[in-house]
Amino acid sequence: MLRVDNKTLKECCGCTACVISCPFGAVKMGPDALGFKYPVINNDLCTNCGKCFKDCQFVKSYKGFNDFEEPLVYAARFKDEKKLRESQSGGVFSAIAEAILARGGVVYGVAYSENYKISHCKITKKEALNSIKGSKYVQSNLDGIFLDVINELKNDKLVLFSGVPCQVENLRKQTERLKRGKLITIDILCHGVGAPKVWEDYLHYLEIKYSSSLQNVNMRNKLLGWKGGIETYTFKNKKRIITESYLYLYFSHYIQRESCFNCPYTNLKRVGDISLGDFWHWEKTSHQEFRDNKGISLVLINSSIGKEIFEEVSGSLEIIPSNTEECMQNVLRKSVEPNIKRNVFLKDYNKKGFKYVAYKYGDMGFIYKTKIFIAKIFSMFKQ
Ligand SMILES: Cc1cc2nc3c(=O)[nH]c(=O)nc-3n(C[C@H](O)[C@H](O)[C@H](O)COP(=O)(O)OP(=O)(O)OC[C@H]3O[C@@H](n4cnc5c(N)ncnc54)[C@H](O)[C@@H]3O)c2cc1C
Repeated sequence: MLRVDNKTLKECCGCTACVISCPFGAVKMGPDALGFKYPVINNDLCTNCGKCFKDCQFVKSYKGFNDFEEPLVYAARFKDEKKLRESQSGGVFSAIAEAILARGGVVYGVAYSENYKISHCKITKKEALNSIKGSKYVQSNLDGIFLDVINELKNDKLVLFSGVPCQVENLRKQTERLKRGKLITIDILCHGVGAPKVWEDYLHYLEIKYSSSLQNVNMRNKLLGWKGGIETYTFKNKKRIITESYLYLYFSHYIQRESCFNCPYTNLKRVGDISLGDFWHWEKTSHQEFRDNKGISLVLINSSIGKEIFEEVSGSLEIIPSNTEECMQNVLRKSVEPNIKRNVFLKDYNKKGFKYVAYKYGDMGFIYKTKIFIAKIFSMFKQ
């Protein structure tokens, strides 16, 4: 597979910007063995003009673009309990998305698409908002999305785009010649994106194991509270299971994209007008509010447009001002580090497949099974 200007794997975040920047249509995206997409160049069409390379924003020299020297920091969450429960952290994303839709705008976020693959999509109605709530720890498919955003902006639509920082920064670059103020961006604090192929293999493994196809998937359910997020799967035969197997591989840093270990955006120089994350370590601050494990959003306001939108939605939220010291977490300091066994994991995965690595490296031992047992009992009492 050829890559743009021979960038190495760790220098390509797979955002698709090179595809739309090429004036000759010479760049397409193609998947590697983990399902991560990389640019593939058609040599018959490529003139070596270098535009794709120049337009790429995934560079270590990134300096930050936003109006504010330092972000304004808040802890916040939805007043509405149901909306809080449906969201990953405190639901601030939904509050902002609702405001954009109410103004007649469109919202881009990440949904479970066909067969529970993970894709960016556009929504235009409040009723569709549920589909893009919740974190999916898999790299989203962005095919056609940047072009769609550009078309909406050219039609003078107000656009909210939410994505992980490498996606937001590259979209921003691709739209900078268009009128400012119509594109509002939210970057999601990111622990790295997981491998699409591992996710697909895992779902396939579950469907065989439980002899039924999936009907509902939640990659990070708040059933046991915000901090103990678990995966829940419901099958067409009505079987319902709780696991942590995919997240275990993800949080052990086996399955992130190579570029995530070399990310230029793991700091306070944010790329979006607003950055959203979980307010981890809240219990270590002196604040007494929000200590009920229902979820707290960390909100970083990085620009005047971001400030204006956040003020507009503040009526639907409980908000506590904070600061850059209280909110610090690893992904605001440095890139995630690969598991020391990642290379052997990848070799095993390529040779022997998902089930083998899931048993060898995944959390399928005694502790894992005990946790599931407790969670099952808990869910029985909830029904
Ligand atoms: C891969 C990933 C890693 C994360 N790592 C951290 C972390 O280390 N620390 C931290 O504080 N927060 C992290 N988060 C962010 C956190 O989990 C919440 O998504 C965020 O706080 C927004 O929550 P909410 O309640 O406001 O919104 P929700 O209503 O839950 O909305 C979730 C938002 O995330 C977007 N999203 C979901 N999946 C993806 C994806 N695969 N790619 C791009 N965007 C996606 C949706 O479009 C939506 O905007 C991560 C999220 C993802 C997707």
